[in-house]
Amino acid sequence: MAAVTPFLTSIDGKHDEMCRLVTDWGNINSHSYNLHGLEELRLQVARSFETLEGEIRDIPLQPHAVINAKGEQNDVPLGRMLLIRKRPEAPIQVLLGIHIDTVYPKDHPFQAVVQVDARKFRGPGITDAKGGLVILLKALEAFEQSPFTHNVGWEVFVNPDEEIGSPGSRPILMECTQRHHLGLLFESCLPNGSLVGARRGTGEYTIVVRGRAAHVGRNPEEGRNAIHALARFIMEIGELEHDLKGVTVNIAQVSGNGAVNVVPDLGVGRIGVRITHPDDRQRLEERLGQAVSHLNALDGIGAALHGSIRRPPKVLDRGTVHVLESLRHCAGMLGVALDWRPTGGASDGNLLANAGLPTVDSLGARGGNIHSADEYLEIDSLTERAKLVALYLMKLGAGEIRVPGRSTAS
Ligand SMILES: [Zn+2]
Repeated sequence: MAAVTPFLTSIDGKHDEMCRLVTDWGNINSHSYNLHGLEELRLQVARSFETLEGEIRDIPLQPHAVINAKGEQNDVPLGRMLLIRKRPEAPIQVLLGIHIDTVYPKDHPFQAVVQVDARKFRGPGITDAKGGLVILLKALEAFEQSPFTHNVGWEVFVNPDEEIGSPGSRPILMECTQRHHLGLLFESCLPNGSLVGARRGTGEYTIVVRGRAAHVGRNPEEGRNAIHALARFIMEIGELEHDLKGVTVNIAQVSGNGAVNVVPDLGVGRIGVRITHPDDRQRLEERLGQAVSHLNALDGIGAALHGSIRRPPKVLDRGTVHVLESLRHCAGMLGVALDWRPTGGASDGNLLANAGLPTVDSLGARGGNIHSADEYLEIDSLTERAKLVALYLMKLGAGEIRVPGRSTAS
């Protein structure tokens, strides 16, 4: 322990700087579609990582295909992604990363970071996940100062589209999984400090139903009501949860044409789903497909379903359990009790783990009420988690922690 102590205590000296960074970054609006804010933040982050002297690349992402309220596809531009790589020739390769986008649009009232008391900040995206980005940076800075670096190379990714399912960064993340032994992601831990073990999978679907417009007074019999048909679809898939245990279906939004004297020829429904087991995907999609074909069997109605399971469930594989156990051992050396629990929320960790990369994805800040205007961060978690990750990396570099085996990609 003596050999690593000075590098761990150096992180205590970074406390004020960490608070300043999380405040500065939290004050920049970086909603997934706010390209200007994302770019400003990306430049600041890139500058902060320059001290690590890795190779920095920024990568444009493919636009996000979104079905709009008219049932048509729109291509929405996305921000740029950062990749920072150091010692690619080292025998052990670690992927570290986190997103910079948040769920708070530019016109949302929650825009600024405030210090609530000596222990807490409140602010948009500070726990999910800008605090995690600060932790990642300071853990790597401490590690790079230590004498245990030569065996460990690393790559940092910073993506701008996680909160919308990582549509643009996904292919780049998939490439990254091929050149690393393990993944450390900096999503927030659970409010009690537990890491996340298994995660449920998530998906999003849009159903577009087209009928035939007609005047309600003059020729209603010629109309084919798309909203009626959409309602049938909703009733059918609303029953799905009873039959498919572990599947949650949330019919979140319905829209269509507006005038009450016209038979509507368009109905659009948006559905969020959560699945627990990898097999749930097929069972769910079979049922959704059946419900769509029931609509297409109706006279004058045409229905199409868009979307997919964006993140398969993250099942705890042996390699990930090994990383979790090593982290618990390191936390014990720091006097911190650490365990892990399953959660319903998905992250990029789901994608990495499903590509076979052992991944722990909740090494970020402790806090709570994420995705709400009461999001808060517990300040002492910044140095605590940075020390934990720095210690893990030093022990990996010193050969005291074994490199986990990959699982078979599913
Ligand atoms: Zn989030």
